Amino acid sequence: MGVTRLLPRPNTRTKTTKGAQLPKVIAFANQKGGVAKTTTTLNLGVAFKEKGFRVLVVDLDPQGNLTMSQGLNPDEIERSMFDVLVHRLPIEEIIEEREIDVAVSSIDLAGAELALSSMIGRERALEKALTSIRDKYDYILLDTPPSLGLLTINAFVAADGVIVPVQCEYLSLRGLVQLENTLTMIRENLNPRVEIQGILPTMFDKRLLHSKEAVDILTENFGALVFNTKIRKTIRFAEAPVKGQSVMSYDPTGEAAALYRDLAKEVLNGAKAREHA
Ligand code: ADP
Ligand code: MG
Repeated sequence: MGVTRLLPRPNTRTKTTKGAQLPKVIAFANQKGGVAKTTTTLNLGVAFKEKGFRVLVVDLDPQGNLTMSQGLNPDEIERSMFDVLVHRLPIEEIIEEREIDVAVSSIDLAGAELALSSMIGRERALEKALTSIRDKYDYILLDTPPSLGLLTINAFVAADGVIVPVQCEYLSLRGLVQLENTLTMIRENLNPRVEIQGILPTMFDKRLLHSKEAVDILTENFGALVFNTKIRKTIRFAEAPVKGQSVMSYDPTGEAAALYRDLAKEVLNGAKAREHA
């Protein structure tokens, strides 16, 4: 069916100037839940770390899944990204060193949108908070909640690039168009440099025709923005967080870990390659 024809053509990305620095702060966003934002933030972060980069992951979701996936309990955390964003606590004070450095979330963060909404500079709280540590890390990866609210907007304002995980099973192209529209507004008003760095098909099941169709539809609409790497569906991704580990350390030689290493390579040098494809 011609679903694709119903949709407005998304903006093609603005070409980055030759030799421009690769994004350093990357937001992982999709207003749909359960598409592997958190899984991708953590595992891509660990894959970068394996390559020798200094990596910080930031949990901006009040549900605290990223925090939990490193064996920390958000219910027992006293100071979190809430205090950083709302009370301007230096972010260094809430970074936990685990498999990877994590700026932690707690349930308090659920109140951040409301608390921020009346503050001047509410969209820039995260960008400000990151300035003191930008030089300490090569990559800062931002995990966002499943909405396009103020927390996600803070991530877009602080980010150089956005990676959009998309579940191959329940592809929502309309959701993606809405996300692109939000990013256009952010570019026009708050952060001219932010752009979609790539769209990542997740939970890909090669046995299902539907999964392949979903990838075809994505490619038809977003062309070179779709990563070549597709994250396959595997139970490993559900098992690892229970152990407080990334898949990279839970099953280092498995296919799931290999796929995130492929994605790391693609993010590191693939942006240019895909532009020239
Ligand atoms: P989001 O952050 O977008 O809500 P999550 O990363 O929390 O999504 O993933 C949602 C659920 O799907 C989690 O239980 C996670 O373990 C599982 N999951 C993530 N990636 C995969 C995958 N490639 N295959 C199977 N399950 C996955
Ligand atoms: Mg999540």
